[in-house]
Amino acid sequence: MAQEDYYKVLGVDRNASEQEINTAYRKLAKKYHPDLNHEPGAEQKYKQVNEAYEVLHDKQKRAQYDQFGSAGVNGQGGFNGAGQGFGGFGDFGDIFGDIFGQGFGGQRQRVDPTAPQRGEDLDYTLTIDFMDAINGKKTQVSYTRNETCGTCHGTGAEKGTHPITCDKCHGSGYMTVTQQSAFGMIQRQTVCDKCHGKGVIIEHPCKTCHGAGVVEAKNTIEVDIPAGIDNGQQLRYEGQGEAGKNGGPYGDLYISYRIKPSKEFERRGNTIYTTVPISFAQATLGDEIKVKTVHGEKELKIPAGTQPNKKFTLRGEGVPYIRGGGNGDQITTVEVKIPKKVNEKQKEALVDFVKASGESITPQGKGFFERLKDKLSGED
Ligand SMILES: [Zn+2]
Ligand SMILES: [Zn+2]
Repeated sequence: MAQEDYYKVLGVDRNASEQEINTAYRKLAKKYHPDLNHEPGAEQKYKQVNEAYEVLHDKQKRAQYDQFGSAGVNGQGGFNGAGQGFGGFGDFGDIFGDIFGQGFGGQRQRVDPTAPQRGEDLDYTLTIDFMDAINGKKTQVSYTRNETCGTCHGTGAEKGTHPITCDKCHGSGYMTVTQQSAFGMIQRQTVCDKCHGKGVIIEHPCKTCHGAGVVEAKNTIEVDIPAGIDNGQQLRYEGQGEAGKNGGPYGDLYISYRIKPSKEFERRGNTIYTTVPISFAQATLGDEIKVKTVHGEKELKIPAGTQPNKKFTLRGEGVPYIRGGGNGDQITTVEVKIPKKVNEKQKEALVDFVKASGESITPQGKGFFERLKDKLSGED
């Protein structure tokens, strides 16, 4: 394309404001749009207008153009190829928005495909036993990831050869195509079809990785699960993710922990919750009982007169804090058990208890009720 002075193409002077450039562009884009203008040369003019606008509406490109002329913005390795594309319109409805609206103002950054890129991060879910999460554990985790090919060291080229810069896109990975759309011929940037966006051509691919630069490999790492790890917590293992591109570093591995539930303990954060059954007599008279904790059996004093569902706190018997500084607590709720059945001797004792309490009760259950009545009246 003949290089005309971009300012002349848009019909603005060198000090034109952004606003003036936008206005001029809109006017000219409408005027020369191939769908609206069928005169010979209109399409060519339309392309020039777009080319000029692409440079002049971008502060950085405009500054380079002002300094170096079109060579500054169109030379090999310049930003013309790698720059923001014109168009990429999907359909007619988008076109006005893109051409005349904010579409051109956006700063879509295109990455140099040959620049070093960090590898992707990987996620791994590790399921561990309830008690392992309390006590901590050393274990191994194996998974498959892409590793830098050891034969070509990631270049993808056979030993002694090197990838060459793609001559079609000059290494940018993108090319401009002119396409027929509902609105007429439009230019858009697309991934280079020769190098598939890599920016380089590998003429002699490495035999180990077939040019990919990476190989799939099993990776095994030692994982030191800290005591106190909780459900859903995630730990990062640096450099254990996917291989980077073009000599970029490896990504990281994120291990998310899933803790199997326990039948005996309920865990909420660093607190352990349990329930323990005690008898009516234990609740009334008091007792010393043993309760299970994650740290073994511990003694719990039940004071006389303990009410049902009373909660006892066992200090420091909960889950260790992951960053140290001791443990959380255990909260144990006592369940006062009412016997479902009592034998004759127990019944008698209870009647005596009722009498001693000065209570009057009407027990249910026929035979016993009669005998109780007799017994109570007999004593009168
Ligand atoms: Zn290789
Ligand atoms: Zn290419």
